[in-house]
Amino acid sequence: MEPWLREEYDANLLIDTRYGWAVEGLVDRFWHTFFPMDPATNNGSVGGAIIAQDGKETWTVHDYLGSDYNADDVKAEKTVARVLGGMGSPYPISPDEITITSIFTPTVALAKTWTGNHQRVFLAGDSCHQTIPSGGYGMNMGLADAWDLGWKLAATIQGWGGTNLLKKYEQERRPVAALMQHWSKIHMKLMGLSTAVKLDPIVIESMDEHGIALREEIDQYVQENDDHNQSFGVEMGYRYESNLAVLNEQVDVEKAAPQFDSRNYIPTTFPGSRVAHVALSDGSAISDGFGKGFTMVASLQKEAVAAGDQCQVPIVPASLEEAASKHSIL
Ligand SMILES: Cc1cc2nc3c(=O)[nH]c(=O)nc-3n(C[C@H](O)[C@H](O)[C@H](O)COP(=O)(O)OP(=O)(O)OC[C@H]3O[C@@H](n4cnc5c(N)ncnc54)[C@H](O)[C@@H]3O)c2cc1C
Repeated sequence: MEPWLREEYDANLLIDTRYGWAVEGLVDRFWHTFFPMDPATNNGSVGGAIIAQDGKETWTVHDYLGSDYNADDVKAEKTVARVLGGMGSPYPISPDEITITSIFTPTVALAKTWTGNHQRVFLAGDSCHQTIPSGGYGMNMGLADAWDLGWKLAATIQGWGGTNLLKKYEQERRPVAALMQHWSKIHMKLMGLSTAVKLDPIVIESMDEHGIALREEIDQYVQENDDHNQSFGVEMGYRYESNLAVLNEQVDVEKAAPQFDSRNYIPTTFPGSRVAHVALSDGSAISDGFGKGFTMVASLQKEAVAAGDQCQVPIVPASLEEAASKHSIL
């Protein structure tokens, strides 16, 4: 997070910064536990999941209702006991308080257009793309939409963005939404574990060769299908392909562009890619020096300033410095 943005957020009463900027403590919070179910008695679906909200006393319990549920029959206390019971009987528990309950229907949808004909309305977030939660892409996509649309709107209103800039918003963001929807569907395979390995509540507990074989099968299935948690390439390795990403005409994109790898994020300076992280010699990240509009990154500060001075748009110079240039970025 760039310091100028952090300062603006901290000063803005409308933005909730209760959770702070530090990531310390995150490891103790928001962990998920999935409870498999007996596929024979549970319609072949996964069971439920619990999420620790504060690592102490507040939890979210998810249940999978199937397609023929009746909302009137869904009772929170019963659901909690049943999910926590996993493949066994309902777990005897009385929650102190049920703070909120809701039912959501997983949807995968992409709006036909994200922009009104006269470019007076722009959609962002779930209003233009919805996806199932596997992979955790929904809110991430929405925030990146807002970021992308935000600077383009500012540049257009301030007069330095040109007349076509806003058209690039959908061109850049729609393929990212489609990519993440595609992978979130693939990630769902993990949720099919109970049926795939024919989970059996007796066998899974047993110490004989059947129990050992089943547990090994579960381990293998999870290792092969855990890209739900491991798809750093999907999260960060996508590339904008509008003509805002200016390529040297000599470049053969097919050969030069980094290969997309769903599981691995490979830092790159190829145009249109997420800016690569580089630590400068004073310990700061190069992105800490980025401005609100464009940033000219050059190997030396004076080169960056000189190049920036020739442009008609607000440009902040940032230099890679000698120490940083030791890092290898594609
Ligand atoms: C179970 C679950 C788990 C998820 N996990 C993750 C995750 O791990 N990571 C992740 O990135 N994403 C996750 N998501 C997705 C994420 O929650 C959504 O993508 C995100 O909340 C969408 O934000 P939004 O602001 O675009 O839309 P919303 O959160 O839907 O906000 C829209 C708001 O507009 C209001 N509204 C609607 N109509 C009107 C109207 N006419 N007038 C005024 N207000 C109106 C609504 O009440 C709502 O408050 C998950 C979603 C679910 C359901």
